[in-house]
Amino acid sequence: MNKFEDQDFPEIREAVRALCADYQGDYWRDLDRERAYPQAFVDALTKAGYLAALIPEAYGGSGLPLSAATAILEEVHTSGGNGAACHAQMYTMGTILRHGNEAQKQRWLPEIAAGRLRLQAFGVSEPTSGTDTLSLTTTARRTGDHYLVNGQKVWTSRAEYSDLMILLARTTPKADVARKGEGLSVLVVDLKAATQGEKPPVVVRPIRTMLNHATTEVFISDLRVPVENLIGEEGRGFRYILDGMNAERILIASECLGDARWFIEKASAYAKERRVFGRAIGQNQGVQFPIARAYAQAQAATLMVRQAAALFEAGQPCGAEANMAKMLASEASWAAAESCLQTHGGYGFAEEYDVERKYREARLYQVAPISTNLILAYLAEHVLGLPRSY
Ligand SMILES: Cc1cc2nc3c(=O)[nH]c(=O)nc-3n(C[C@H](O)[C@H](O)[C@H](O)COP(=O)(O)OP(=O)(O)OC[C@H]3O[C@@H](n4cnc5c(N)ncnc54)[C@H](O)[C@@H]3O)c2cc1C
Repeated sequence: MNKFEDQDFPEIREAVRALCADYQGDYWRDLDRERAYPQAFVDALTKAGYLAALIPEAYGGSGLPLSAATAILEEVHTSGGNGAACHAQMYTMGTILRHGNEAQKQRWLPEIAAGRLRLQAFGVSEPTSGTDTLSLTTTARRTGDHYLVNGQKVWTSRAEYSDLMILLARTTPKADVARKGEGLSVLVVDLKAATQGEKPPVVVRPIRTMLNHATTEVFISDLRVPVENLIGEEGRGFRYILDGMNAERILIASECLGDARWFIEKASAYAKERRVFGRAIGQNQGVQFPIARAYAQAQAATLMVRQAAALFEAGQPCGAEANMAKMLASEASWAAAESCLQTHGGYGFAEEYDVERKYREARLYQVAPISTNLILAYLAEHVLGLPRSY
């Protein structure tokens, strides 16, 4: 019996599994120890065209639906790997695709699809604003044919390994806008050029974290960004970023599902094989039940992820479903992580089992890209009609 019963995109799933077979636990473990970037894996995914899955064929991509991209990321994570080194490209390019003009699409999308340009960095979070994105303080002031950008971003993942960055900056002071969502703009920053030279306008500093995530802080001083790199209309950038968030949530949720599956498989296998008191530990209900519960949670979350993706593809509103998918999937993967670590006893803490690495990785998704509290606040306000809490 296929306990996860996926019937969608069997060829893609099989091909991704075959690719990931070349990047086993020892590959990820070595990188994790050094906090190194999985260059070979990202190159292989790019070469196989998976990172261009959502780019329309007219711009050199495969033009696949979002559910195909979820299948790709789910399989990467089910295999024990991690798509975080490159998953952003799947959704950040959506900002250009949906809101960029034709010249911008022609300029960047075919290059991204071909793997010649990387759009992996997404500069929204800032040290002082946190989740309150509308309070960000990085400014972009228009002077002639360019914007002059000053400020600081934090948690800008993959900035060291990306050619381009989607940057959200304030173009009109908060006090001067009619509606609070206005006054922010999206610029595409040529990161490679901006970080060159003796006194570069952009300085990227890695942040060492509990997981291998290539995340950084980015300092920006007097960076000149040509006006032709403005996406859409000036002042409407927050709307464009929000537009991309449903896809982001659904894709991250699919990674969480993959993690949950990996933990469940790993825990079940170990529980059958490990013998204590003369019998398999999996014979004890105290060991079985947390794994079975995590399986039930993962299956339920799978339904929500599939539902959110279907609505997204049908062009229907899916904010609530995308948020619930991400919340439920991240909680299912965490429940699975807990059961897997506990099932392994002391060995769960040993690097060579990969459980502790995946455990650290799985925890992230209850905080980023949006924390569970903010999802609950969204549901309370927008679905249940409760008063706004912040
Ligand atoms: C490894 C990593 C990679 C990341 N990559 C990126 C990236 O590439 N690009 C990017 O822009 N950002 C990135 N982020 C940032 C991430 O999106 C934020 O960390 C996340 O949105 C939470 O913001 P914060 O850390 O500022 O927490 P804060 O906003 O300071 O919140 C702290 C805690 O308070 C809670 N809280 C805050 N306000 C409320 C409220 N009103 N009601 C209830 N609870 C509340 C939150 O839920 C959270 O648990 C990354 C973060 C990490 C850790």
